[in-house]
Amino acid sequence: MKEKIDIMSLTINELTQYVIELGEKSYRARQIYEWLHNKLVDSFEDMSNLPKSLMQLLDEQCFITTLVVEGQLASSENETIKYLFKLKDDHVIESVFMKYKHGYSVCITSQVGCRMGCKFCASAIGGLNRDLSASEMLEQVYAIQKLSGKRISNVVVMGIGEPLENYDSLIRFIKVLSSQEGLHISQRNIAVSTCGLIDKILALADERLKITLAISLHAPNNKIRVQIMPVAHRYSYQTLIEACKTYVKKTNRRITFEYILIKDINDSEACAQELSCVLSNILCHVNLIPMNPIEERSYEQSPKKAVTAFKDILVSHGIQATVRRELGQDIDAACGQLRRKHSQGRQYESVRSNP
Ligand code: SAH
Repeated sequence: MKEKIDIMSLTINELTQYVIELGEKSYRARQIYEWLHNKLVDSFEDMSNLPKSLMQLLDEQCFITTLVVEGQLASSENETIKYLFKLKDDHVIESVFMKYKHGYSVCITSQVGCRMGCKFCASAIGGLNRDLSASEMLEQVYAIQKLSGKRISNVVVMGIGEPLENYDSLIRFIKVLSSQEGLHISQRNIAVSTCGLIDKILALADERLKITLAISLHAPNNKIRVQIMPVAHRYSYQTLIEACKTYVKKTNRRITFEYILIKDINDSEACAQELSCVLSNILCHVNLIPMNPIEERSYEQSPKKAVTAFKDILVSHGIQATVRRELGQDIDAACGQLRRKHSQGRQYESVRSNP
């Protein structure tokens, strides 16, 4: 039997081509696309402006990706909710819903697990199972919009996984999510975070997207970076910084550098001075992140004083820097933490149906 088509992963052009191949008029593609990506239905039967025969044909040849809520955990203020979703093959991923300055934001997973091996990260511990499809990435946003009843205006690809390792699905995801006939989330409100896969950063620079690229830098030099991020063995610090400069030049978009502050590893004033020099000529913003401690590692969070001093040094060098709000530490909102507990069969409390 022929494998069914993952219809939600098709761009509008691909869908149009498919519909024409079925012998239908091309406007049907736009109707189907709107049902999938704007009205967010999860069955062909619900596509009420399609002829019955087409609904049946689609049902025979295609599938619509859905996610099952496996668990849901709200932070004490109820403004951050972490969802555990089960995929078709029973793998579990996590996505986070957050209230953000003027709207609502979702942080999505791009791979089941991760093979980048960052030492401070819970997602890295179990390794990589598989990539997510574009539809599985989209459905995290769609499902949360439906569950929360709130219109999602920001999406960050900062959950489990290395999105640039799943490059084709990522690009599809961004194009569909920002398309006019879909949820039409502005590319300026979509951010993608990478640990620094240089060839893919350079490829991304040529895609002409308006997204924000975030680089998980986490160190002021190669020596410290290799200690905490194995990817630095593959791509040296200096080549990463050069790739970032090229990215800014080509896209004219400001880069975000993420920097987790880990006690006695990368949080000294000397580190801040060195980082200031490295970033002095780059159009960028530095997001300082107090590390969420994970049980499996001995790394500790930097003291508040060190965080402030670090930030002040960057700012005194004219570099824009902010300290990320700590959202949802009480619900294990750091990358991969909840999924890990779930896979170990551990208890997590309070399942709520609505925020
Ligand atoms: N692989 C991508 C995206 C997933 S990680 C990347 O590396 O950017 C998303 C962000 O969460 C990264 O900046 C990552 O370094 C950070 N992160 C991972 N573990 C963390 C922890 N324990 N505390 C705080 N941030 C963490």
